[in-house]
Amino acid sequence: MTTIGVLALQGAFREHIRSVEASGATAVIIKRKEQLETIDGLIIPGGESTTMRRLIDQYGFLEPIRAFANAGKPVFGTCAGLILLAGEIDGSHDAHLGLMDMSVRRNAFGRQRDSFETDLDIKGVADGYNAVFIRAPYIERVGEKTEVLATYDDHIVVAQEGHLLACSFHPELTKDHRLTAHFVSMVENSKRTLAS
Ligand code: GLN
Repeated sequence: MTTIGVLALQGAFREHIRSVEASGATAVIIKRKEQLETIDGLIIPGGESTTMRRLIDQYGFLEPIRAFANAGKPVFGTCAGLILLAGEIDGSHDAHLGLMDMSVRRNAFGRQRDSFETDLDIKGVADGYNAVFIRAPYIERVGEKTEVLATYDDHIVVAQEGHLLACSFHPELTKDHRLTAHFVSMVENSKRTLAS
């Protein structure tokens, strides 16, 4: 059975657990870094990236999550989780995990559009995907190895770099589990590759 952990320091982790289970994998709440050894893939949820970073430092997760990803295990960052994965934030080089070659802008859709829902076409994953944005970031620039999977208003909102996936919105808040299911299949593939 494929086991996916959801980083549960802060933010919307319970809904992710449900979404992973609905996609046919086992889901576990991750609160200690030692638990990373027991999972095949990791989801970093939405919340507040600066708060989450503080807790990542407090609980000693920074290097263990980097090592997890560098060992080829998939990581999916959603909303604040996307910010944590990015190599560059708001034009500065002070990244958090800095695992993905992309530059992101926080709270990028502005005050008037703090929260909204829209239907997105996500390349190779889903058409008419129901996406919920909450004080969302977008991706301003991606590196050569990072593939753009969806845009909204000409801004990149889903990107994948090998075994790393990031989206601007909250894929766990609706019954549309197709993006989570895509991550589950990335984890299943990497599990097969890592085992061989
Ligand atoms: N605005 C938040 C941040 O900068 C992200 C919002 C979210 O995860 N819903 O961290």
